Amino acid sequence: MKVNVIQSDITTMKVDAIVNAANSSLLGGSGVDGAIHKKGGLEILKACQEIRNRQGKCNVGEAVITTAGKLDAKYVIHTVGPVWNQGGKEKEKLLGNCYKNSMKLAIENEVSSIAFPNISTGIYKFPKELAAQIAIHEINRFHTQKVVKEITFVCFDKQNFELYLKLLKQ
Ligand code: ADP
Repeated sequence: MKVNVIQSDITTMKVDAIVNAANSSLLGGSGVDGAIHKKGGLEILKACQEIRNRQGKCNVGEAVITTAGKLDAKYVIHTVGPVWNQGGKEKEKLLGNCYKNSMKLAIENEVSSIAFPNISTGIYKFPKELAAQIAIHEINRFHTQKVVKEITFVCFDKQNFELYLKLLKQ
C-alpha cells in the first residue's frame, strides 16, 4: 500500500474513489463538499437522496458510497467528520472512524486507489496536526490488506500539505 501526499483540488483526482467531508444531511454543503457536488453534478445528489430515503441521515464517523457523477473517479465516499467544538477523546475517535469506515467501504467495493481530503479541518475546526496524526494512524492500520493499493492525502492548503509531508517522513 503506497501512501502519497499532494497539494491539490480533490475534484481533479483520477482515482477509483474520492472521499468527501460531508455533513449528516448528505445533501451538500460548503468547502470540499460543495466543490464535489458542483463539479460532479446532480447524479451524486440524487444518489445521496436515495441513501437518505433508505437510512435517514449519516451519523458522525460513518460513511456511505455513491457514484462520482461527472468526476474522474468511479465513486465518492461521503463521510461525516466531527465538529471540533471543545475537542476531546470522543472527537478524536470519531475522526478516526471516518478514515476507518471509508477504507472499509473502499475495500468492499474493490477500490484500488483512493484520495482523502483533510476531514474536519475546515469549517469543523479540528486542529490540523492532530487531525493529520489521526488520519495517518488509521490509514497505517490497513497496511496488510491487499485491495487498496494507493492512498493519496489531498491537501488544499499549504499548512496541511507541510504537516503531512513531515508526519509521513517519520
Ligand atoms: P469540514 O466541515 O469537514 O471541516 P471543509 O470542506 O470545510 O470540511 O474542509 C475540510 C478540508 O478540505 C479543509 O482542509 C479544506 O481546506 C479542504 N478543502 C476545501 N475544498 C477542497 C477541495 N476542492 N479539494 C480538497 N480539499 C478541499
